[in-house]
Amino acid sequence: MEENCVFCKIIKGEIPSTTLYSDDDFMIIKDINPQAKIHLVAILKNHIPHIDMLTEKGASILGKIMSKISHLQEKLGISEGYRLIINQGKNANQTVQHIHIHILGGEKLKDF
Ligand code: AMP
Ligand code: ZN
Repeated sequence: MEENCVFCKIIKGEIPSTTLYSDDDFMIIKDINPQAKIHLVAILKNHIPHIDMLTEKGASILGKIMSKISHLQEKLGISEGYRLIINQGKNANQTVQHIHIHILGGEKLKDF
């Protein structure tokens, strides 16, 4: 856990969040600044800042998150389709240095 990390604070319950799913490895919360009708973030419970610092365990949790999302589509409101995004580093405008997967859906998303 990192003192000044907003996602670590959410995991510890020091900052409130709307949690849709949580287990020992990760949680899925509503993004505070939604970029689509549904915008969630899946946050690893371990503080790993970047994808290029990913451990083997972290990599397996990312896989588990993707599998879990597909099983939770109805509950998350994304059964018509969704987009998963990981921003890595400054060219991608990563603002929170704690690995997370954006989950976007709930409407027809723009092509890119
Ligand atoms: P990124 O730019 O990929 O690092 O994404 C960080 C995301 O975290 C942004 O979409 C923010 O809106 C979101 N965010 C920051 N603080 C909070 C918070 N307290 N609760 C929920 N989402 C947050
Ligand atoms: Zn953190």
